[in-house]
Amino acid sequence: MSYLDDIEHLAELDKQYIWHPFTQMKDWLVEKPVIITEGRNSFVKDTYGRWYLDAVSSLWVNIHGHRRKEIDDAAREQLDRIAHSTLLGLGNVPSIGLSEKLVNTLDASFGGLTPRLSKVFYSDNGSTAVEVALKMAFQYWIHKGLPKRQSFLSLRNGYHGDTIGAMSVGSVDIFHAVFQSLLFKTFKAPSPFCYRCELGKSCPDCSLACLREMEKILEVHADEIAAVVIEPIVQAAGGMIVWPEGYLKGVSTLCSKYNILLIADEVATGFGRTGKMFACEHERVVPDIMCLSKGITNGYLPLAVTLSTAEIFNAFLGEFKDLKTFFHGHSYTGNPLACAVAIASLDIFRTDETIVKLKPKSAIIEDKLADMATLPHVGNVRHKGLVAAIELVREKTTKDPYPWEDRIGWKVAYKAREEGVLMRPLGNIIVIMPPLSIGIGDLRHLLEVIKKSIIAVTG
Ligand SMILES: *Cc1c(COP(=O)(O)O)cnc(C)c1O
Repeated sequence: MSYLDDIEHLAELDKQYIWHPFTQMKDWLVEKPVIITEGRNSFVKDTYGRWYLDAVSSLWVNIHGHRRKEIDDAAREQLDRIAHSTLLGLGNVPSIGLSEKLVNTLDASFGGLTPRLSKVFYSDNGSTAVEVALKMAFQYWIHKGLPKRQSFLSLRNGYHGDTIGAMSVGSVDIFHAVFQSLLFKTFKAPSPFCYRCELGKSCPDCSLACLREMEKILEVHADEIAAVVIEPIVQAAGGMIVWPEGYLKGVSTLCSKYNILLIADEVATGFGRTGKMFACEHERVVPDIMCLSKGITNGYLPLAVTLSTAEIFNAFLGEFKDLKTFFHGHSYTGNPLACAVAIASLDIFRTDETIVKLKPKSAIIEDKLADMATLPHVGNVRHKGLVAAIELVREKTTKDPYPWEDRIGWKVAYKAREEGVLMRPLGNIIVIMPPLSIGIGDLRHLLEVIKKSIIAVTG
């Protein structure tokens, strides 16, 4: 027995050494932490041997469940060859295999549509995938002889990661306000958030009204804007905001009209989460640049890709001395272990028929959300595929929110934890984001626990 098998001691060591992300450590230091030791399918086990339903998919990354044999095997096989070798000036086998598979997957999703995403740039996480996209778009216009295009247009309630560039195109005040003076200036258009429409419209006009606001910015500033940056269909960390139909298509049309690149950040929505392989498929929109990460390795290893069109790639071709090279790269870019695991994860979509099997699950969520919508403190429910949100309000008629200091979302989450369900709210919003492979019975149980927990906390 190692000293790490002593459960109480482990908790002490965690508190002594670890600074947890997005966590008020003063609270953490007095709480009893849940420390995970194992996982299996949609469940994770803690040091006390308790099993929990993983309703956050280990922070939105798990698609096919924990300990998938095919993926475990792929990691072991790759370990027997090599764990890491750089992509700077060298190739490696799994990164080649994964690129081909990804481009084929995109072709299957968007076949025949334009533009075509055919070039794969690797990095390590969602934030870096976005940084790469921003720098790529910025430099692209320099090569095209339009160097004034130095800014970006993004949406309020958008979230694109925590690095400085990603925060600059983001707009979730609670995360970003303190860093405001560090960020570069970008243009912000309204978020098509129907429940709390900032333009005060009622649906279905709001989609058009939001697009009109975006166009007003483009009319004046198009020649300063390199790209429009969006999270297509669902703005995730900003509150699981599900867009009204037609809005995404409208953004894409505006980008074409003003000759501006469209960057789709599918870090949260990619790999089936919204019911299609990629969220852009819902409106048959192909962006010029697409960012993918979270689900890409089924949560096994950190990996991200930024996909671009050949048109963008070709703009960087030139004589060595012209310095048209894309000067960006990370030490772990194209990590072979991560790529091998990602290939195995992509294959499971076919063998499990993951996307087809989402339909009945999505229908169950829809039914149960309609039921929860009648609760006195549920202001709004929204969902797409296997992501759902329940927004709790103090006063239903006025949509008056609970003060965020009340931590109403966390109270519900802790209640659910007692019932064996692990989830992580976004402020007053209860988020339902289980692995796509979750069993029907487990999904029903999860929804029931959430309903009971909301009633227990809000009455
Ligand atoms: C999570 C997320 C990111 C950031 O990804 P990290 O891997 O956490 O850096 C970027 N964009 C979207 C849409 C996300 O949901």
